[in-house]
Amino acid sequence: MKAAAQYGTDTAGNLSFKMHELSLAASILESAVGAAKNNNASKVKKIYLDVGGLLMVNPEQLRFGLEVLSKDTIAEGMEVDIKKIPVKVKCASGHVSTLDPEINPLHNAPLLRCPECKAKVEVLGGRELILKKIIAE
Ligand SMILES: [Zn+2]
Repeated sequence: MKAAAQYGTDTAGNLSFKMHELSLAASILESAVGAAKNNNASKVKKIYLDVGGLLMVNPEQLRFGLEVLSKDTIAEGMEVDIKKIPVKVKCASGHVSTLDPEINPLHNAPLLRCPECKAKVEVLGGRELILKKIIAE
């Protein structure tokens, strides 16, 4: 599963971040449960997620969202493995770098600059949210 980057650009602060993780958790859960059912599984044991650094996901909040939303589903009690994928950028001069974006507090959005020349950059990777593997039975 892939989802487009949805990092917050509003000014609602923490609330928007929690809503963000909760909506990501809902779509992850739907994919995991759907895939398990398609394979005639009755229980999701564990899922492996690749989460791009640009999604600005708090792993603990994502875990919590999945735990809450999976209650009374076949995914209740599943383990969640979250791997953070670094943000990869390229500037107009051709510098390719990986970085941990800083958050611009005014916009709640990542500030992305080339670490070498401070120019604006094009994002090559780090926006992905991938449900990589599901262990079900
Ligand atoms: Zn550069």
